[in-house]
Amino acid sequence: MNDCIFCKIANGEIPAATIYEDDEFRVILDLGPASKGHALILPKEHAANIYELPDELAAKAMILAKKMATKMTEKLGCDGFNIVQNNGEVAGQTVFHFHMHLIPRYADDGVKLGWVPGTLTDEVKEEVLEKLHE
Ligand code: 5GP
Ligand code: ZN
Repeated sequence: MNDCIFCKIANGEIPAATIYEDDEFRVILDLGPASKGHALILPKEHAANIYELPDELAAKAMILAKKMATKMTEKLGCDGFNIVQNNGEVAGQTVFHFHMHLIPRYADDGVKLGWVPGTLTDEVKEEVLEKLHE
């Protein structure tokens, strides 16, 4: 992926503030952080989104997210933690190279994530169960 910014960052062609690196991942500080310490887990191998991500990397990314959240919570002294992962423009994805957001949360940090809860109607419940239940 010649024109993918996160490929270049993950593979060290463009410098970034790196807080962790191994053979398969780089974890960098987000340039537009939601909170102090907001970081991104980037696989070095290109996958546009979770649908394209190989299972093995998906599993490793989650284990790495747990490890980073634990370390960041301890070292930064945050009070909570969000792990966010967007797929597709409609879901808020702006860089089309799979990444996981690590967002430390602090009391009264004012960070807004989330949605307005709706109501699960019987009609929708039945429709979704029919489509997805195995
Ligand atoms: P998305 O909206 O795709 O889930 O998240 C993309 C994130 O990447 C945003 O939080 C944005 O601030 C961050 N970002 C975009 N370009 C760069 C960059 O060149 N360097 C770094 N460190 N972060 C970036
Ligand atoms: Zn890429």
